[in-house]
Amino acid sequence: MITKGTRLYSILNHTCPQCHEGRLFVSKAYSKSFIKMPQRCSHCGLRYEQEPSFYSGAMYVSYALQVALFATVYVALRVLFNPQMEVYLYAIIVTVLLLIPVTLRLSRAIYINFFFSYKEESSKK
Ligand SMILES: [Zn+2]
Repeated sequence: MITKGTRLYSILNHTCPQCHEGRLFVSKAYSKSFIKMPQRCSHCGLRYEQEPSFYSGAMYVSYALQVALFATVYVALRVLFNPQMEVYLYAIIVTVLLLIPVTLRLSRAIYINFFFSYKEESSKK
């Protein structure tokens, strides 16, 4: 069980890294504005975008997630079906494309958690 107050909680639930109460994104993963974030946390007022193009650094996190996804799909296919080479290629492309909203949001959630940590006092307001 992932408890409130840990970085993992904030990352997986897409909540504010400081109070773990406010939402990081305005809508669900599979909607048009999946990457849209409010300017500030609705609970503690933390600014989500510290400077212009703050989240360009999240690209590197996203890259790491994609590589992990690649490896996971490859190993899963290999173990379960051991298919032909093309199958790996298509399966990986489809998985990566389908999961773009998830990986982008996750990378931003991870990235902002590099800069802020949980402050108990800001969750009680
Ligand atoms: Zn907050």
